[in-house]
Amino acid sequence: MCCVFYFKYSKKLIDKPYLVALLLTYTKWRLLIPQSAIFLEKEDGFMKAIYMDSPKAYDMSLKHTDELEPGPNEVIVKVNAAGICGTDLKIYQGKYPNIKWPIILGHEFSGQVAAVGEGVEGLPVSTNVTARPGISHCGRCRMCIEGKTNVCSEKNRLGFEQNGAFAEYVRVHKDQIHILPKEIDLTTAAMIEPLAVVVHALRSITIKPSDVVLVIGPGPIGLIALLLSKANGATVAISGLSKDQKKLTLARELGADLIIDAEKENDEKTLLELTNGDGPDIVLECTGTAGGVNKGLELSRTGGTYVQIGTWSHPLTVDFMKIAYKEITVKGSYGHTKLDWRDSIRLLQSGRIDLTPLIQGIYLMDEWEKAFKDAESGEKAKILIKP
Ligand SMILES: [Zn+2]
Ligand SMILES: [Zn+2]
Repeated sequence: MCCVFYFKYSKKLIDKPYLVALLLTYTKWRLLIPQSAIFLEKEDGFMKAIYMDSPKAYDMSLKHTDELEPGPNEVIVKVNAAGICGTDLKIYQGKYPNIKWPIILGHEFSGQVAAVGEGVEGLPVSTNVTARPGISHCGRCRMCIEGKTNVCSEKNRLGFEQNGAFAEYVRVHKDQIHILPKEIDLTTAAMIEPLAVVVHALRSITIKPSDVVLVIGPGPIGLIALLLSKANGATVAISGLSKDQKKLTLARELGADLIIDAEKENDEKTLLELTNGDGPDIVLECTGTAGGVNKGLELSRTGGTYVQIGTWSHPLTVDFMKIAYKEITVKGSYGHTKLDWRDSIRLLQSGRIDLTPLIQGIYLMDEWEKAFKDAESGEKAKILIKP
């Protein structure tokens, strides 16, 4: 009798729909229970983490590694969510040469304080936090003295030179931590890093309500640039390629005044009409590709402002003379500073912008391959990974 029951039971277990239902219930349960409960649940002394093992393309794997102990002035954060950045994708595809392998990727994240080391005060366990990826900078160079630590040549960053946040826990220095106000939920807080990139880029220019801004590239950075330009009252056009249709539709939903398919000439004519034939006053280039850069300089109005936000690790072929002939003011922007993070958090807290529509896929860490495949397809804005 007992054997019959066992046989029936195990048969039921290998039944596919039953397994799927079980998995879905488990997934839902993992996403719903408080993060502190997950932390207390762990007793094996190991944590899961996604490693990029070498410079070789796609040399990525999920591993079990030793759980972290905080050193002096360090904080161990239980990761709640971490975003896949365009740079993570380049590293994944073997196209980004300057990191230390093997390494746990992930530099856009949120979580809760799990443990603190000696010398850390005011950060009780379970405090909701996020952290800047910049671990250290030299503190002596000209740029550091000016407060521009983002362009110090001796910086160390999470997910580049030190293990990042595609893990159950991440180690940060106490100075990297930003406590989250109650108005910002933990999932959206994983978007503060890309928000800070755009806040930093716009700090060097002024966007007026009378301006027409052209954003090139509808990825997360481009979409945030659209939101911030709209918040400044400008008329905003955003351009992408034909394959970016889904993200361009999202851009329209987010308030873009004009959507441009860069592969269709008519769309660019509409942009010129919108500016009485002048071209946009401000170009925010968010792709870092030769196509995007050349298009931006070509469309910019004479005497306009152009900000390079998108990055690429290889040299590009660009018609640089347009900058002279059209007297375009070109600004470069890279990363962010502590001030940009403080302002980004205040901006999100104010409710003036909503980044939740940009989060279009959430995967558990065990599903990392699907998550990276989804991010690689380029169809969605931001993909998050949750432990
Ligand atoms: Zn990033
Ligand atoms: Zn420095």
